[in-house]
Formats: sequence, C-alpha cells, structure tokens
Amino acid sequence: MSEYIITVDAGTTSERAIIFNRKGEIVNISQKEFEQFYPQPGWVEHSPLEIWETQKFTINDVLEKQGISAAQIAAIGITNQRETTLVWDRATGKTIYKAIVWQDRRTADYCEELKALGHEQSIQDKTGLLIDAYFSASKIRWILDNVEGAQERAEQGELAFGTVDTWLLWKLTGGKVHATDVSNASRTMLYNIHTLQWDDELLKLFDIPKGILPQVKSSSQIYGHTEKELFGASIPIAGIAGDQQSALFGQMCTEPGMVKNTYGTGCFLMMNTGGKVIKSRHKLLSTIAWKVGGEVSYALEGSIFVGGAIVQFLRDNLDFVDNAPDVEALAKTVDDNGGVYFVPGFVGLGAPHWDQYGTGLMIGLTRGTQKGHIARAALEAMALQSMEVIDTMALDAGIDQKELRVDGGASANNLLMQIQSDVTGLKIVRPEIVETTAQGAAFLAGLAVGYWNSKEEIQSLWAVDKTFDPSGVNVSEIKKRWSEAVQRAKSWNL
Ligand code: ADP
Repeated sequence: MSEYIITVDAGTTSERAIIFNRKGEIVNISQKEFEQFYPQPGWVEHSPLEIWETQKFTINDVLEKQGISAAQIAAIGITNQRETTLVWDRATGKTIYKAIVWQDRRTADYCEELKALGHEQSIQDKTGLLIDAYFSASKIRWILDNVEGAQERAEQGELAFGTVDTWLLWKLTGGKVHATDVSNASRTMLYNIHTLQWDDELLKLFDIPKGILPQVKSSSQIYGHTEKELFGASIPIAGIAGDQQSALFGQMCTEPGMVKNTYGTGCFLMMNTGGKVIKSRHKLLSTIAWKVGGEVSYALEGSIFVGGAIVQFLRDNLDFVDNAPDVEALAKTVDDNGGVYFVPGFVGLGAPHWDQYGTGLMIGLTRGTQKGHIARAALEAMALQSMEVIDTMALDAGIDQKELRVDGGASANNLLMQIQSDVTGLKIVRPEIVETTAQGAAFLAGLAVGYWNSKEEIQSLWAVDKTFDPSGVNVSEIKKRWSEAVQRAKSWNL
C-alpha cells in the first residue's frame, strides 16, 4: 500500500515537502518560506519553532494536495541546511536560543583566536574542516556562554544540541529520538571523521559537555517514527543527509572520482573520494558524504560564494535582464567576451582562494564593450570559478575526472553548460530531475525501508536530460586572463 516517499527539504530560506514515486519522479511539492532574523551585522538567526511549524505545514499540505494519506507514505527522508545550530531543553523541548544559521559570523573572532593558538592543523586532521565560524562548534560555545545558566545545565545533561535534521527528527518523533547522521555530524567540527566518534579532545577544547550531543547514525536507516497525531499515521523516518551530500547521492555520484556541481546562488562542488579521507592541501574541505549499508563514503568539497548570484546582480543591480534565464540570450548577442572578465568577489572569494579581502572586479572594458560581453563574462565567471575548484580537487585527489554532473537553477543555461565543458574539458551531464538534493534524501530513505532494493535499482531510475562535450575551441587565453583578473581582485580591501 505504501506508494510514495516524502522528502523533507529544510533549506535556509524555505522548507519543502516533496512526494516522490517509485520511479524517483516528483509528483507533488509544497513549499513555504520562513523568516530570516538579522539582529546585528553579520548575525543570522531562524526561529526554531517556525522551522518546525513550517515543515509540519508543508508535509500536511503536500499530502492534501496529492489527495493521499500518511499511510501511503513508505518513509520520510530529511535533507537540511547544514551546520545551523540549535540547543533545547530535553524536558520541555523548548530551545534556549534561536537557531544560529550557518552564515552567521558572530564567532569569527573566537575562531581567529583558535587559529592563533595553533589548533588549525589538528582540527583539520580530525574533522577535515578549516577553522571557521561557519561550522557548529563555535556556535554551540556562543550559546552556552551567552544564555544564562546554559553551560551548567548542559553539564547536568538537561540540554540537547542538534543541527536542523536533529531538531526535525526530535519534533517528528515527539521528542523520542535525539540523533543525526554522519554527514551532518561531520559539519559540527566536533566529529572525528576517521574514528567516526565525537572527539573528546575537541569537546575539551570547546568545553562542550558530551551529554548534549546527538547519537550519530548512518544516513539510511530507520531512526524512528512520526507521532501518529501529526499526520494521521505513523511514518518511518529513514534517511538523513546534509543538503550537499544529499545532492551528491541524488546525482548518483556513488563511485570515487565522481563530481557534482550545484549552480544555485553559489556553486557547490563535491567529489566522492570513496572510503578514503583525502586531506586537501589547497583549502578544500574533507567531509563525510554518507554511510549506507555499513560503508562510509567521504568527499572533497569546495564552495563558491557567488554563482547564479552574478546573474541576479546583472538583473537587479544593473537592469540588464528582467529574468535570470534571459541572460543566455543576451550573452548570445556576441561571439565572445570581447576581452571582458568579471570576477564576482562581492563577498570575498571562496574556494580555492579563501580571500575575505577580495572584491568584485570587471576588467578589459573598452569603448566597444556591450551588455552582451558583460553577460557572457558573467557566465564564464561561473564556469571558470567552478573549473578552479575542479582542478584543485583533481590535484588533491590525484584523480582525473571525466564528467561533471550538474544541477541547481542555473544548470538550465545551455550556454553556461557548454562553456563549462569547454573550460574544463569534461563531459557535462545534466539529469532529467535537477532537484537532486531532495531526490538524494528520498533515495536514502527508500533504500532503508526496501521501497527500492539497491543502489543499482536507483541508478536505473536516474536519467540524463542532456550532455555537453568540449567543442574544441581554444580556451587557453580565457583561462590565463581569468587567473590574472582574479589576482587583481584579491586583497583589494586589505
Ligand atoms: P538557490 O537554491 O541557491 O536559491 P537555485 O538553484 O534556485 O538557487 O538557482 C537560482 C540561481 O540561479 C539564481 O541566482 C539565478 O540568478 C540563477 N539562474 C536561474 N536560472 C538561470 C539561467 N537560466 N541562467 C543563469 N542563471 C540562472
């Protein structure tokens, strides 16, 4: 009777519940935005209760829209914005502070202190991460320091910490289950990705009592069941993965060396490195991709801050286009970039440069420069930034990849995909379903309950929409000039 899987996709600005059928296709979606709080410059918070209420609403709403009952759902999979930190009272289930969002920079100075004290190497060795306010550990520290009595209560075992997956799992099970999966645990900066344990030395360094941490489970197993009164029947919750890891699974990048790139606001690249942790020598992150069937897979990750957002900039700041997709036609009004390079370092530069003093830069302008040249340069910037991360991954992993699987809003842009193929020399593969983040969690949940029987079965569901091969145009000049432009954009605000 169980005919569908639901993915609970808890994003940063909105949450969705998505119904998948046996073919892995989306049959219905409910989506709702929730409020972003910016109490001080650099601070970003969410209301934990709103995260839960919004998510609960979307699940009920999508069931209603599809005209089905909870009894027809074989399992729920959760995928979530990563690192965002919540602490709640185990007895009442009430959080003691708002959710501190991954983007929040309030602990940046504390992280600088940790670096100055020389902890960078050992933290990278244990967790695969670079010390940064981005990850959960310093955010937990902040809450325990700034909410009265919190440290003491944590020590007495009264409090629970969780990322958004853990919070939703707790709420869905009526407070019965306090757990996370390995992919989310690996983003806390407290989890040793080699031993697969919470790391006692790191807990000591951050002075975080072990008793507040969730149990760490695999990414595909039954963690618990939803409370019957929530949706009318009890549904097993059977898959959890952080958003980027879920997308990697949804793209079926299940073999070492396979890479995906999500072209959203930023560009998020991830390479499966199999059962091996590859320590980056070039400022990429090593992280856990998932644990399925007792086997852990690792990944290398590189994030670019401004990807599709460069197109938003052309649309909203420069009025070049009315809608983001129109940028493709505008870029096609010219044959090439006319010598224009556009480095979108609006918020500094991410992987592999990590230059927080970098800035945006447009260079090579002449009297002949047209809007089309700038639009073309913007698309090239997305592709060239992604190329830099892909080249870095190849260096770190010693793997020469052959193809790149793509998803995210801007992957619909055929010209961008062709440029991406040309500058990387890779085959670009765009699947039919580009909602791979949600799809990954559905696959993980479906595998755990036998809705799908094997990775091979899932593999056979995964279908290609379009591929792009290198056209053979000479890209050496573009690549050379691009890296010169990046050099000029670096450190501008230092
Ligand atoms: P997010 O999940 O980060 O909100 P999406 O995956 O929805 O992002 O992708 C939206 C982003 O992609 C926006 O930044 C938008 O400017 C860009 N975008 C959307 N469609 C296109 C397109 N056809 N060409 C280029 N950029 C696009």
